[in-house]
Amino acid sequence: MKVLVAGGAGYIGSVTTEMLCDKGHEVVVFDSLERGFQAAVDPRAKFMQGDLRYKEDIKSALLAERPDAVIHFAAYIEVGESMKEPMPFFENNVGGSMNLMNAMVESGCKKLIFSSTCATYGTPERMPMDETLPQLPESVYGESKYLCEHIFKWGEEIHGIECVFLRYFNACGATEKYGEAHNPESHLIPLVLQVAQGKRDKIFIFGDDYETRDGTCVRDYIHIKDLAQAHILALKPGVRGGFNLGNGDGYTVKEVIEVCRKVTGHPIPAELEPRRAGDCSALVADSTKAKTELGWNPQFADLKTIVQSAWNWHQAHPDGYTEST
Ligand code: UDP
Repeated sequence: MKVLVAGGAGYIGSVTTEMLCDKGHEVVVFDSLERGFQAAVDPRAKFMQGDLRYKEDIKSALLAERPDAVIHFAAYIEVGESMKEPMPFFENNVGGSMNLMNAMVESGCKKLIFSSTCATYGTPERMPMDETLPQLPESVYGESKYLCEHIFKWGEEIHGIECVFLRYFNACGATEKYGEAHNPESHLIPLVLQVAQGKRDKIFIFGDDYETRDGTCVRDYIHIKDLAQAHILALKPGVRGGFNLGNGDGYTVKEVIEVCRKVTGHPIPAELEPRRAGDCSALVADSTKAKTELGWNPQFADLKTIVQSAWNWHQAHPDGYTEST
């Protein structure tokens, strides 16, 4: 298939592009490079620089390339940032998605795979979380992704564009070539690994008074290769709707730090900070639907394996993508 990957220079987009190329698909990466990196784009893919906020950028890309499907990752992703500066999240995530849908209608592209999030559910009324839960987001980031899902559903109903919403839990880990490099970094595992690399003195734990086994937040950490695999499976004609993607195992912040200590051999000092706005106490996936309907079969469920892959990548790329690696 020919696939346009919007946001293909970012973390999940770069690994999905790599795996699409490995499978012999023709890939066009469309990315503004505002937060992504050209060095993260697989050289087998064609690269087009463009910004979804500019209608003409995406319209001309789709009219020129005429892909069979679009996989859409291009978005702002930091929950904490979204609670301080909400409007750019609506402008970029929602406005950009509207421009994408319009351009898909105009160019006749009939398949969309959208990078959504468990943050669209808010605090769930039961655990693990399946797709029948009500979507009641509690952060601007989650709300922006939820609004996109709605817009896309109408695009599906009225224009016949088949839409898949992949709701990720916590993406982490790396392939040999591509890993997690946000600037500034805000995610737990890369921050902890920066302590082990000597780039930070300590890790801050955001709250230890949650109702969890050790008081710190529980998250479901899922390997980036397993996530990328789900996107490829979702390309199949006839697949549509929402799918939760996680391992079904939750780890607390303290447990993650402990695994990182074992993998890196570094003591990793930790200090308590107040809760971070927008955080839910626990988010763990029930991915039965993805397993039965997509045939998804995560291969790297063990947290130690996931952290080891991230640690290997960070050691091989100590400055992320700032060097030409
Ligand atoms: N977290 C933390 N210290 C940090 C970064 C994150 O304690 O420096 C916590 C955060 O509150 C959340 C978990 O680690 O409970 C995972 O956060 P992350 O930002 O990696 O992903 P999110 O769950 O927000 O998508």
